[in-house]
Amino acid sequence: MTRRPEGIPELIPHYINGERVGSIDGDTFDVLDPVTNEPYTKAASGKPADIDAAVAAAKNAFENGPWPKMLPRERSRILHKIADIVESRGDQLAQMESFDSGLPITQALGQARRAAENFRFFADLIVAQADDTYKVPGRQVNYVNRKPIGVAGLITPWNTPFMLESWKLGPALATGNTVVLKPAEFTPLSASLWGGIFEEAGVPNGVFNLVNGYGEEGFAGDSLVKHPDVPLISFTGESRTGQIIFGNAAPFLKGLSMELGGKSPAVVFDDANLEDAIDATIFGVFSLNGERCTAGSRILVQRGIYDEFVERYSAQAKRVKVGMPDDPSTEVGALVHPEHFEKVMSYVEIGKSEARLTAGGGRPEGFEEGNFVAPTVFADVKPDARIFQEEIFGPVVSITPFDTDEEALELANNTKYGLAAYIWTNDLKRSHNFAQNVEAGMVWLNSNNVRDLRTPFGGVKASGLGHEGGYRSIDFYTDQQAVHINL
Ligand code: NAD
Repeated sequence: MTRRPEGIPELIPHYINGERVGSIDGDTFDVLDPVTNEPYTKAASGKPADIDAAVAAAKNAFENGPWPKMLPRERSRILHKIADIVESRGDQLAQMESFDSGLPITQALGQARRAAENFRFFADLIVAQADDTYKVPGRQVNYVNRKPIGVAGLITPWNTPFMLESWKLGPALATGNTVVLKPAEFTPLSASLWGGIFEEAGVPNGVFNLVNGYGEEGFAGDSLVKHPDVPLISFTGESRTGQIIFGNAAPFLKGLSMELGGKSPAVVFDDANLEDAIDATIFGVFSLNGERCTAGSRILVQRGIYDEFVERYSAQAKRVKVGMPDDPSTEVGALVHPEHFEKVMSYVEIGKSEARLTAGGGRPEGFEEGNFVAPTVFADVKPDARIFQEEIFGPVVSITPFDTDEEALELANNTKYGLAAYIWTNDLKRSHNFAQNVEAGMVWLNSNNVRDLRTPFGGVKASGLGHEGGYRSIDFYTDQQAVHINL
């Protein structure tokens, strides 16, 4: 039985001004199947000339096309159509995403639904948009004139790629901008569906453009960041890449939104519902193969329940089912790419020298090739350990004991990151005090990572710059001009 889904092109092209095109210099790169690490197709490798063509198309569509001038209701209708199409193709999308990225198929399906929801959410939000007006009686009226900015450059990572692309495309397009998307080079397949989806929904040519390729200097990502006709960059990826992009965008004073890495704590106090806390913290780090920015990858457990927690948690981690990404019973599939697999495995080896291994620790039995890693648990992890401090971005978790609330807070805040935090306690005061003091952009109390799309999404410290979500995304993708009228 072949795992390969139907409809994979022989070459994954760019999409520029409504045309599917190869790179101007003809260059391509191999795209690998994470189960075998064999190339299964090629993608066009974008260079500065391809970015020039895509930006020119987007600029022309912004300056001369109907998109920025449409009524919000008209754009909203098209965005709802996009959501309908994404929903109706959920199975195909999930199959492609799972095949390309190694994500378990059931989880890829959930991400496809979320992509549709992102479009629906911003389609609704844009028609409900109200802007401020201020009156100084007898003297002045002041109002806000909100305008799209121009060509938005969207640079995305390989984890849940289609969903994360939709999280940027939805608000960028809803607000009337035109875009150039540079998807991650490890996972270009599902992004190749966007062009057809937008055509069917009635998005005018040139509004959406996509250039595949690498990120570094001389390639697509870097030249998009440095393009003078791209005033906005929305980036999701590693903190180190964010720093480079920050530097490269500085001479142009571009608008930047950065959603970066994480090493988020899950803090379990001794009064917590242990069963719920164990289930949620297992899901929090092993779902999406652990390749999740908000993974609760450092579990801090109060001393009184520590031994029991470690024992039960490790036993449950051993029961997490590793399997083929297309098998509906699989809970952890294959990591995205051999380079990433090597990185995660190197941390597993580092962990063995730093802490006590209680589950996993290498390839799962029966998976001699491909990027499979057994769910791995390290206990007694010290705060100066590399596996405590550094983002591993795989199915690897560290557990550390603490005694007091103060110690828990100090440990929770003791990394350069500040994306998410999860707190498990039945003490109301303690939970709110902890939530308000922990250095994290998002906190979940006695809860899994479930989001309301109206809330701010983003991190503090090395985890990000700026917040998107709800009206904050609308603010990022628009200029708010103040108009003052004398009475
Ligand atoms: P990455 O930083 O390696 O790459 C992300 C994207 O940036 C890719 O498209 C890449 O080609 C491009 N890129 C690389 N160098 C560039 C440069 N110099 N200029 C312009 N573009 C460049 O990240 P990744 O490995 O693809 O993704 C995993 C990372 O993303 C993890 O750190 C994870 O935590 C983070 N992430 C964060 C969030 C969030 O919302 N905070 C969400 C998902 C992933």
